[in-house]
Amino acid sequence: FTPIASKEADLKIVLLGESAVGKSSLVTRFASNAFDADKESTIGAAFIVKKYYVTDPETNEVKLINFQIWDTAGQERYQSLAPMYYRNASVAIIVFDLTDISSLTKAEFWIAELEAYNREEHKIQILLVGNKSDLSKNENDNQISETVERLKVPYFKTSAKEGTGVDELFKYIVDSIDDGI
Ligand code: GDP
Repeated sequence: FTPIASKEADLKIVLLGESAVGKSSLVTRFASNAFDADKESTIGAAFIVKKYYVTDPETNEVKLINFQIWDTAGQERYQSLAPMYYRNASVAIIVFDLTDISSLTKAEFWIAELEAYNREEHKIQILLVGNKSDLSKNENDNQISETVERLKVPYFKTSAKEGTGVDELFKYIVDSIDDGI
């Protein structure tokens, strides 16, 4: 069943972060509500499109959001290509692994790069995601909350494996653009 949408918007999202933090798994979880433990690593970048319908609870008006989600490879050698993917993006999801504190350092690097880009009159919304909450024993919590406070970016915890937190993340994105369409 495909509802008829009265409004439509395109939304480009880019995922950035160290290799193996779970970027591709998050995209798969959001796009098809599945998890594939044996998936091959992303080379360069890959993108998926997903149609997402939201109904306004007050007016019952249906809006269609065409998500275009770019999943970039975390490897160092592709780093210089990143601007190609975040250029024209509305939202950047910076992902780290809750059980690997070095991936948080990498996340900080990406946030700094995007903030510098935003200072040149761009307006990418930056979100920070700590993934693999199913494996985390809260061992890095102090350092994570100190970093999140300092960076002042919206922060979400997810498990692409179990699906926890993924809906909340995308709902936040949908809500934040809702007024724009
Ligand atoms: P990417 O390189 O950042 O795109 O990371 P992948 O999505 O390829 O995931 C890297 C590895 O971590 C794979 O073996 C995934 O199965 C695993 N993985 C990803 N997300 C999760 C998660 O939320 N929990 C657990 N336990 N493993 C995950």
